[in-house]
Formats: sequence, structure tokens, C-alpha cells
Amino acid sequence: MTEAQLREEICWFGKSMFDRGLTAGSSGNISARVDDAWIMTPTNACLGRLDPARLSKVDDEGNTISGDKPTKESFLHLAMYRQRPDAGAVVHLHSTHSVAVSVLADVDPEQPIPPITAYYVMKIGKLKLLPYYAPGDLALANAVREVADRHHAVLLANHGPVVAGKDLATAAYATEELEETARLFLLLRGEKLKLLSAAEVGELTSRYPT
Ligand SMILES: [Zn+2]
Repeated sequence: MTEAQLREEICWFGKSMFDRGLTAGSSGNISARVDDAWIMTPTNACLGRLDPARLSKVDDEGNTISGDKPTKESFLHLAMYRQRPDAGAVVHLHSTHSVAVSVLADVDPEQPIPPITAYYVMKIGKLKLLPYYAPGDLALANAVREVADRHHAVLLANHGPVVAGKDLATAAYATEELEETARLFLLLRGEKLKLLSAAEVGELTSRYPT
């Protein structure tokens, strides 16, 4: 894929997610790898109205090479890429149901959402809930960096998910799967559940490694 095509794809996914209420206002950000740099959505940009020509191009220190100033959350993306050399894209949203799960006081940080569907296991695998830090706090990037080699999807407490994928479509679809599974999980709160067994999860993760 050329850089021009990738820029178009970032704008397409941004609008698609915005139009379906997966992100609101100027929240959420998307990045993708090109050669030795990253294309990122700009700071204060609405994902529904991105301009391919104004997307930020940044180096691996987060410095702007061209385009508008990058998202203030660029460090979250770079923390993920540093630990995951195979990652081609990262999506971060403040999507309602995922954020709602991140606020629950009694969830297990090692498994904030249990294995309720096969596709959740196949696309997200082991989600890790990270403690709350204020947006912009570098401790947040450090917390992501510490676990990113083992988790391609993390949930920032009282904030939202950060999900890496081999390409943008993979990262975007995984983020959407997480949001839909969070919604299901909340719908089912208080019900007696029949979760996938450890053997069923093991079979899926060996057949479909994330
Ligand atoms: Zn955020």
C-alpha cells in the first residue's frame, strides 16, 4: 500500500468509526506505519472530518516531520510500536462500552472482560487493564510500554482502549470487536454466564494467534 492509499484508509476508518458513534467530538486517534515514520491523526481533529493531506507524519521520537501537529496521545502509539515491531497500526478510542468496563471497580486487571465469544478471543486475546494516569502523563506511556510485548490490546482505566494490529484494518476491527464485547459483557452483568472454557480458549489462541 502506498502512503497516499494509507492516508485515505486512515480517513475512511476514522469517518466510519465516528459515523457509528464509536468516538465523539475530537476524541480518539489512529496511526499507521510507513517506512521509517508514522502517519497519525492530528491533535484536536475530529475523526469524522479528517483530511488526508493534513495528517501528521512523525518520527519515532514523536517529532513532526510534516502535516499538522500530531495527537497529544502520540506517545501511547509510539509506546506500542516500540515493543511490537510487527505492528503496522494502532487505534485508540474513548468508545463508550469499553470505557464503562474500564471504570468498574471489581474487574480483574488481567482479564477485565471474560472470554464470552470466540471472536473476542481471536481478535483481542488477553486484554490488560492498566491503572489510571492523567492524559499526557508519561507514566501512562511507560505503563503501556511495560506490557505491550505481551498484550496487543490494553484498556486504560477511566479512559479507553489502545489496540495494535499488523495493519490498520486488523487494528480497527479488533478495537470494534472489543467495544461490541464490552457492550455484551455489560448487558450480561448479574446474569449467570457460560464462558468459554480454558481448553476452548487455548484451542482458539493456538489456531488464531493474535
Ligand atoms: Zn485518549
